[in-house]
Amino acid sequence: MPDWFRRNTKNIQTYSKRDTKEGMWHSCPSCRAVIYQTVLKDNFFVCHECSFHFRITSDAYINLLIDNNDYQEFSKNIVSSNPLNFTIPKDYSSQIQETINKTNKNSAITTVKGKINNIEVILGVMDFSFIGGSMGSVVGEKISRAIIKAEEENLPLIIITSSGGARMQEGAYSLMQLAKTSSKLARFSEKGGLYIVLLTDPTTGGISASIGMLGDIILAEPNALICFAGPRVIKQTIGQDLPKGFQTSEFLLKKGFIDNIVERKKIKETITSLIKVLKKR
Ligand SMILES: [Zn+2]
Repeated sequence: MPDWFRRNTKNIQTYSKRDTKEGMWHSCPSCRAVIYQTVLKDNFFVCHECSFHFRITSDAYINLLIDNNDYQEFSKNIVSSNPLNFTIPKDYSSQIQETINKTNKNSAITTVKGKINNIEVILGVMDFSFIGGSMGSVVGEKISRAIIKAEEENLPLIIITSSGGARMQEGAYSLMQLAKTSSKLARFSEKGGLYIVLLTDPTTGGISASIGMLGDIILAEPNALICFAGPRVIKQTIGQDLPKGFQTSEFLLKKGFIDNIVERKKIKETITSLIKVLKKR
């Protein structure tokens, strides 16, 4: 390349860099308001302008619910194997390891025992950042163990869902988890166990077709996508336009699929009141 063509001087500076660290500001995907990180955190990661609920991690939900964030985690070290030797489009074993390194979690659900306003509970919280919160054999096993623990110790069971559905990489093993968790919940219910589920954005596929819809009380966060197959698939199948707000919490509440919609800042007090009332039965 001849010298005359080369750029010798640096680009003209038209602005000076502001003194802000990356990740300090968030833009609301719903109303585009720009929100300072600490303001968002203080408001439970809910937009103060339009009440949009940002997705939060399982640790954040545990911190929100459990008194003083003081809990015992159980079944922590169960890790998925690759039972079908699944390698396409990506080696499943490596994918699991990469996700463990990235999220610092061993699976898409964290199960703990702790207190909510001084009431002992078993709490399971799913994490969408772990392979889309998908349910494979480990998630199914951890949910089952949580149900058994709640049954043995006669404690209320709370599960917070967030899931893209069954985990494709484990094929039929994933589908078996629907029957496994549902039958355990049925037995728990027969023995008088209390199960409250909170559906968060998104709760879809195998989770909505099993533990998501089997709560004695089914709560949901505002404007969460809750469905089995997504709106695009349904639209293609039936060849018709779908009603406004289809498959949101508000739509499902109107159709009687869920019991109530709860803002994030009211989750703890709502669950506390429900346990107090229902445990007296
Ligand atoms: Zn907003």
